[in-house]
Amino acid sequence: MPLDHATQTPASDTPAADTLTDEARRQIEICNACRYCEGYCSVFPAITRQRAFADGDITQLANLCHNCRGCYYACQYTEPHEFAINLPKALAEARAESWERFAWPGFLAGPFHRSGVAIAVALIVGLAALFWAAQALKPDGGEGFYAILSHTMMITIFTPAFLLPLLAIFVGLRAYWKEVGGEPVSLAHLKAAFVDAAKLKNLSGGAAEGCNFEKGDRFTNVRRWHHQAVMYGFLLCFASTGSATLMHYLFDMPAPYGLFSLPKLLGIPGGLLLTLGGLGMAVLKTRGEKDLGAPALWGGEMAFVLLLSFTGGSGLALYAATGTAAVPVLLPLHLGAVLTFFLLTPYSKMVHGFFRLAALVRDAQQKS
Ligand code: SF4
Ligand code: SF4
Repeated sequence: MPLDHATQTPASDTPAADTLTDEARRQIEICNACRYCEGYCSVFPAITRQRAFADGDITQLANLCHNCRGCYYACQYTEPHEFAINLPKALAEARAESWERFAWPGFLAGPFHRSGVAIAVALIVGLAALFWAAQALKPDGGEGFYAILSHTMMITIFTPAFLLPLLAIFVGLRAYWKEVGGEPVSLAHLKAAFVDAAKLKNLSGGAAEGCNFEKGDRFTNVRRWHHQAVMYGFLLCFASTGSATLMHYLFDMPAPYGLFSLPKLLGIPGGLLLTLGGLGMAVLKTRGEKDLGAPALWGGEMAFVLLLSFTGGSGLALYAATGTAAVPVLLPLHLGAVLTFFLLTPYSKMVHGFFRLAALVRDAQQKS
């Protein structure tokens, strides 16, 4: 009879894991004895650096995992084997549990993960209705969108809506760093983490041939490309907004901006990448096996990629409709989507980007 790695007792005698962390730890200990998947991603080299795994180690490993599923399809100990290894699922559930635990304020985290689509739709519609109603307060001056909703109103709403979620994320990251035993961060650690994140190295399957997210017998980089489209699309949109803010305040150049201005040159490709990448991720989610992730969170994750895609798409539609009668309808919808995105960032799948980056920094520290 196979032995339990940790206790050296028959596996069938091992008490059932009663928490997500315990279940992830059980599987990680088996992986540490097996080591077949060593080259797949950063998780396995990190496992082999240790013999015992505290709760903080499990949190760190869970946040290093990209749920590419390569290790599941390669594993000889999946069910019906009594080890019942499903590492992508065990880590996905431990990871989601950690986001919920680190969320601040904590009570806001659970609902979106479990009822994401309904909450996102309700927020977009509700906020769009408020923006639509606010058009009655016609501004005295202003051009373009600012002739419909004043610049002062936009700044008054969006500045706190941007800064407060960042504060919530900072509080969560600080708790994460403490739990995983993080040390003072050096530039070298930051550089290593950002290079890994920029390449999405852990989605390459270890040999650049890609992962098995959609189907076990097919290696593909499609998920990595879509993920990169979303990430770079988001960064370009962010840079577009940042450049518009600088032009407004530093150079006294208020919107609207022409096609060959910096905000548009960054924002249009950004919006396209965000829209198409988000749609691609949504399609892939429908093709992947739910039971290799955290099934209870599937709806929240789907809501997140659709929200990203809708935000990008509504921004492009608004730009295409400039000067037409559609603007008073599209502008509230787009602003409702952007505001929903900001407000939900600390409590939705979006937060994974921050924790993943922190996990990569910690991994760089542990490697050095
Ligand atoms: S996932 Fe399976 S094959 Fe891979 S290291 Fe773990 S036990 Fe071994
Ligand atoms: S699912 Fe992919 S990223 Fe996660 S541990 Fe397995 S091989 Fe690594």
